[in-house]
Amino acid sequence: MPETVLSRFLRYVKIHTASDSDSNTTPSTERQWTLLRMLADELRELGASDMTIAKHGYVLATIPATTRKRVPVVALFAHVDTVPGFSGEGVKPIAHRKWNGKPIVLPDDPAQVIDMAKYPEMKSQVGKDLVTASGTTLLGADDKSGVAVIMTLAEFLLSHPEIEHGPIRVCFNPDEEIGRGVDKLDLKELGADVAYTLDGENPGEVNWETFSGDSAVVTIDGVSTHPGEGRKYKMVSALMLAARLLAALPVENRSAETTDARDGYIHATSMSGNVAHAEIRFILRNHDNDRLKAQGDQLRGLVKGIAAAEPRAKFKVQITPSYRNMGYWIRENMLPVDLADEAMRAVGLVPTHPPTRGGTDGSRLTERGLHTPNLFAGGHNSHGPHEYACVQEMELSVKMLIELVQLWTKKGANYKKRTKRK
Ligand SMILES: [Zn+2]
Repeated sequence: MPETVLSRFLRYVKIHTASDSDSNTTPSTERQWTLLRMLADELRELGASDMTIAKHGYVLATIPATTRKRVPVVALFAHVDTVPGFSGEGVKPIAHRKWNGKPIVLPDDPAQVIDMAKYPEMKSQVGKDLVTASGTTLLGADDKSGVAVIMTLAEFLLSHPEIEHGPIRVCFNPDEEIGRGVDKLDLKELGADVAYTLDGENPGEVNWETFSGDSAVVTIDGVSTHPGEGRKYKMVSALMLAARLLAALPVENRSAETTDARDGYIHATSMSGNVAHAEIRFILRNHDNDRLKAQGDQLRGLVKGIAAAEPRAKFKVQITPSYRNMGYWIRENMLPVDLADEAMRAVGLVPTHPPTRGGTDGSRLTERGLHTPNLFAGGHNSHGPHEYACVQEMELSVKMLIELVQLWTKKGANYKKRTKRK
């Protein structure tokens, strides 16, 4: 009997795999190895070929082609880590079979209620099977739903050679949540022509636009004197100047708290300091590279204004690119998106293309030359106690992928991978 996507999912979410942005190793945490090794063993047992665990924790394997045609190699990605900001330890998944639509009170913290009044997309899930955590942890559907979907697909394809498809590469990677998911992945070793991450939410979703992101650090050096010295107007407090900068930031429609859809933002992530020295860290986000640059200019302009009013202090602004909107490259050849749309329709879904308000592993991969849109995998409300997965949506994701790999065989033969990096 093949294992179901649900039983796989329930096994995977119990393994604690939070990543850690303060660590310099890859994977950033030892505990991610537990799941990575387990997946490697399972792929081997299922009969996948070329199984390797690369030294930085990338689990790679091949589902061999069943066609003689020369068709592009399609890679499928899911990440094993969970976000470090909320506990992922001791996850107790609870299955709610045929959910009746009533608010779900999580038993370990009854203040945590998953309610469709708050999450309207749940209306389409009444009568379906949901899995939640128990109230004190996240669930880890982000992205263990993607892992379970890909493993279930692998088992199905390996036992159904009559389904015609080209070579499929599977990649399970660590550290997506800390923005380093594919940094050390050797794309030659992966050997794919096109890829998809299974890390999206709603059925039908094909995300091929992400934010472009920069990080910025503003440092301020003040003039420190003893506060009791009474020499009026000698002290210049770096901390007070930092506060002035924060207060000067545009808020309405320009901050992380007040934007959605295609609006970008300047978001202060941390501030530290004292009279002598202060530092504020920011992230800047926009789907449009020119607008992102304008946001950086705006930040510099605000600093300039405050600096002009207090020439005794020293200001420094450093802006560093983090990642770029994959749409800039995907637009060159929309076939990976078109075929995903067609696969969605083939399983009765309406394809949608909401731009992602964030980066994905696919942003980096696309920038590096491997075009990688993101597809839904059935997880919802990531990164907190209200996270849940819908079993029928995970099953639908598997079905959609079965269609997609066949479509690449039928229609993808002429797809050319980008060879030059822009
Ligand atoms: Zn994810």
